[in-house]
Amino acid sequence: QIPVITIDGPTASGKGTLAAGVAQALGYHTLDSGSLYRVTALAARRAQVAADDEAGLAAVARGLHLQFEGTNVILDGVDVTERLRDEAVGAMASQISVWPQVRAALFDLQCGFRQLPGLVADGRDMGTVIFPQAGLKVFLTATPAARAERRHKQLISKGIPASLDSLRADLEARDARDKNRSTAPLKPAQDALLLDNSLLGIEASVQQVIAWWNARLPF
Ligand code: C5P
Repeated sequence: QIPVITIDGPTASGKGTLAAGVAQALGYHTLDSGSLYRVTALAARRAQVAADDEAGLAAVARGLHLQFEGTNVILDGVDVTERLRDEAVGAMASQISVWPQVRAALFDLQCGFRQLPGLVADGRDMGTVIFPQAGLKVFLTATPAARAERRHKQLISKGIPASLDSLRADLEARDARDKNRSTAPLKPAQDALLLDNSLLGIEASVQQVIAWWNARLPF
């Protein structure tokens, strides 16, 4: 059995940062599943496939020519890592991820990331749908105010102007879409451990997950 740790949670809860920290500490691979929805959205925009064309979007997802170099995503030979962080790409990713055919088209690709010595996978349905057998499932939360504040700081540090109120409204809209969709809605797996990092730093969050993991080994 190849070990898997899943970290699911809402937008801007710090899943990616936590997953990277845990993976680094353990020497495991990472899967940023959100980047696969984002890269599908980017490829669909380029191919002029609309956000409501479920079959067309699924065909785009199945036909992606991707390479992964560390945490960088290469689409058709071009590094699109930075582009994937655009708000417009994130917004379209959120819209297209409601479609069951799109989710199904990305299933095998995600499972393929499970490689030795182990995987830390972050997203919305890692523990519930993609890796239900994972040895440790974490559900990460933080208050909407804390999450909006973090996203705001990130954007400002990149010199991108942003309004705290509109960021918060946007992330609450994404949360609602993720929670209310019929396929793979955002919710903690039954056996997930909850971690609220509103008041917790990155290092403390990583240490908590490592402590849970060590307590589970060998499973
Ligand atoms: O996590 P990130 O913001 O990069 O994800 C982009 C979008 O992809 C999210 O808004 C969410 O709707 C969707 N997503 C998903 N399932 C995942 C990961 C992301 O539906 N496992």
